[in-house]
Amino acid sequence: MNPSPHPIKSSASLASSPSPSTTRAVRVGEVLVGGPLFVVMAGPCSIEGREQFQQTAFHVRSHGACLLRGGMWKLRTSVQSFQGLGSESLQFVSKVLSDSGMGFVSEITDPRQIEVLDDVVSLYQVGARNMFNYALLKELGNTRKPVLLKRSFAAQVDEWIKAADYLTQGGNDQVILCERGIRSFEPSTRYTFDLNAVLIAKSRTHFPVVVDPSHAIGLREHVPALTYAAAAAGADGVIVEVHPSPNTALSDGRQSLDFQQFEEMMLRLEKILMAIGRPLQRLEP
Ligand code: PEP
Ligand code: MN
Repeated sequence: MNPSPHPIKSSASLASSPSPSTTRAVRVGEVLVGGPLFVVMAGPCSIEGREQFQQTAFHVRSHGACLLRGGMWKLRTSVQSFQGLGSESLQFVSKVLSDSGMGFVSEITDPRQIEVLDDVVSLYQVGARNMFNYALLKELGNTRKPVLLKRSFAAQVDEWIKAADYLTQGGNDQVILCERGIRSFEPSTRYTFDLNAVLIAKSRTHFPVVVDPSHAIGLREHVPALTYAAAAAGADGVIVEVHPSPNTALSDGRQSLDFQQFEEMMLRLEKILMAIGRPLQRLEP
């Protein structure tokens, strides 16, 4: 009997390739995710004001980030927690983006936000809490903007890949997968960083796969090491939280790098990237 040529094929998912595949790069403005260069996306968890966002944009850009992150709408466990500035921040966000020349990745929490976000976002982020929100995914499938699809903290890799089909089904195949940690029995970290999933997602799909070590471990002092590990394992990029004053951040301060930590991480990351032959993608000065 002939051995199966595709031993790991287990899913009938449309996003799933019939055999381990090469990555199809996704263009986000002038940035290519999943190409020959490693991509760093960085910025605050929440956009808290013009100055905080602008300072962070300039700092992360000058140290090698090529996409800027920042939440305008936040999904918080407690309704009492800061929910984001929403469309109130739109004007200054646009100004910071044009001044810094960076593409913007921001979370969409409701399909009605497309109207507002479409003007500023280069990459829609679907958060872990919304990976199973198929109505939202279908709406984004009808747009032609790339989507960063985070894995739910309770999703199997197969469910994550099948969620991507809700985007591609509508004709939007510009999908980037993001591993951000899963819930386990271990309480000493916020979530459990699942590097296994990065390898499996890369082998089963054509999508670029990036990681979010900030939410995974929840402790800023360990974010750099997870970034290096993911880069060495073949992740296509990383998205990290950075704040000018993490201890006063309105969300996720404990896991946000301060400016100096970001700078140091980038210096070391570049050395590792050179060693593995996958240099850092930088914006034109
Ligand atoms: C975030 O990126 O700030 C966020 C809320 O992430 P996640 O959806 O992975 O929890
Ligand atoms: Mn966050």
